[in-house]
Amino acid sequence: MENVIIIGAGCAGYTAAIYTARANLRPLMLTGTQPGGQLTTTTEVENFPGFPDGIMGPELMTRMQQQAEKFGARVAWAKVDSIERRDDGSFLLKAGGEAHHAKTVIAATGATPRHLGLPGEEKLIGHGLTSCATCDGAFYRDVPVCVIGGGDSACEEADFLTRFASKVYLIHRRDELRASKIMAERVLDNPKIEPVWNSVVTEYLADDKGEMRAVKLHNLQTKEDSELEVACVFVAIGHIPNSGFLGNLVETDENGYIIQKPGRTATRTPGLFAAGDVADHYYRQAITAAGQGCAAALEAERYLSGH
Ligand code: NAP
Repeated sequence: MENVIIIGAGCAGYTAAIYTARANLRPLMLTGTQPGGQLTTTTEVENFPGFPDGIMGPELMTRMQQQAEKFGARVAWAKVDSIERRDDGSFLLKAGGEAHHAKTVIAATGATPRHLGLPGEEKLIGHGLTSCATCDGAFYRDVPVCVIGGGDSACEEADFLTRFASKVYLIHRRDELRASKIMAERVLDNPKIEPVWNSVVTEYLADDKGEMRAVKLHNLQTKEDSELEVACVFVAIGHIPNSGFLGNLVETDENGYIIQKPGRTATRTPGLFAAGDVADHYYRQAITAAGQGCAAALEAERYLSGH
């Protein structure tokens, strides 16, 4: 029986692993399908303390993994399909056909990029529709592309894409960016980025080969419809928390974010803790996720010493 299983391998998961490993709990991490979490799909991280010159997201995650393993954390590349609580208070997890048994569980499963839900969307993913500029930006050199959204992610993606694309349209449903001031200014000052204000994408248009060729736009103010030719659409409209597999073990809000005990990482199930973006719809930063991972580890440790 494991002392603690950490589900998810982003900032929250690795920090929980570092702390529980240093407390001699020999944590087992089940990483899921995107080890390293959202930072593996980002470029430079400029606001993680300790890196005055910035650090690339994937490198930061590799370093966190090395740090966790150095203290004895075990990392298994498996996705948890189900979890149940036994009568003795322990947890049974099924992951890729294997069963794991643990006294405590830290859910640090993060959140997945949201899409618009337009017809034909699934077929176009990977054919000119994506939510990862870092992964796919370099495929679209010297062609026009667009980014949907007005937050920090959208601005970061738009800025990054100007390295490759001939033009980057930033399609936003309002006429003011939600992004932080520094990001918004960077985007609005970039001559290769053209904001398309008060507009929503109502249709993706594919060519004969099934590749993206344009989007249909609706201007919410003028009510006019138009077409914009783009070779790729980068969607950056927020995320969906990965909490569904926990079922009734956790209480969630209307958007699926896990509700923790006030000021804590404890959930409604004793021995089950939640950390990072799966529970945090407010801060959603790498450093706050790491902080929650630390808090969850300390709570798990105290729970174990009390039982
Ligand atoms: P976000 O801040 O929630 O922004 C989502 C954007 O998408 C908003 O502009 C929103 O429009 C728009 N949107 C949402 N649903 C839409 C829909 N159905 N159709 C059209 N547009 C839609 O999400 P995020 O940009 O992913 O950022 C999440 C968090 O991570 C934030 O706290 C952000 O600060 C942080 N972050 C930080 C960095 C960094 O510091 N380097 C980088 C990336 C993200 P409205 O504005 O009209 O609501």
